[in-house]
Amino acid sequence: MKLRILCDNNTYIDQYFLGEPAFSCYIEAEDARVLLDVGYSDVFLRNAEKMGIDLSALTHVVLSHGHNDHTGGLTPFIEGKIAPSAKLIAHEDCFVGKYYGEEYIGAPYDVEQILYLADCQLTAEPVAITENLWYLGEIPRKLDFEPRTVIGKRERMGAWEEDDLLDDTALAYRTENGLFIITGCAHSGVCNIIEQAKAVCGDDRIIGVLGGFHLFEDDDRAAATAEYFARHNIPNLYPCHCVSLKVKHRFMETLNIHEVGVGMELEI
Ligand SMILES: [Zn+2]
Ligand SMILES: [Zn+2]
Repeated sequence: MKLRILCDNNTYIDQYFLGEPAFSCYIEAEDARVLLDVGYSDVFLRNAEKMGIDLSALTHVVLSHGHNDHTGGLTPFIEGKIAPSAKLIAHEDCFVGKYYGEEYIGAPYDVEQILYLADCQLTAEPVAITENLWYLGEIPRKLDFEPRTVIGKRERMGAWEEDDLLDDTALAYRTENGLFIITGCAHSGVCNIIEQAKAVCGDDRIIGVLGGFHLFEDDDRAAATAEYFARHNIPNLYPCHCVSLKVKHRFMETLNIHEVGVGMELEI
């Protein structure tokens, strides 16, 4: 499996790609060419072009959740007819209205619109994209230190409710040495995601985790997360997008942390 970061908050010195506080990752696995998230704007398209990545050959677009820093790029992607036959996989709640106070923070299309615009598989169940690459579906909130958390409100069929991001999910890639996991924002908890990956893929060994972990404070949750990573002997961690410097610093005391930025390439 090969992956390349198309969009992240961070860019590297002397590499003139664009950054934005958002996430998008391009993945090649077996015969699939997959985009996980599309960032906030057309930045991921412009970066992909500069990297020589042909997004018209995509087979799948997976959305980790509905927030606009992961789905905003759908508008230029769909209007530009970049890869109209790519299958779009996401949780149905990815396309409910999401608000933080007065501010709209959801996807640019509602469920009806996206079903019209794209070949969609909207599901809470895990999906095997290839033999080894898995969409993990809805993530059970099992671990005490990663309880249900709420960000703003969602609108479902005219009713408003607290948004606990049931749509939040991730990808897992199965190798002969264990699982490599790629998250979007990990609102459901990065360790809950790892638990789901273990259950779905039938392997308890984790060789790496890359993506947003949604950790900002050096608090009990960050400490419990570091302990969980250490207990699982995860050799490589790539926290980015929504992980603060404080938390990365705490992780670096005991864990092997890599810096992530736009253009980063990994071969697993
Ligand atoms: Zn989010
Ligand atoms: Zn995010």
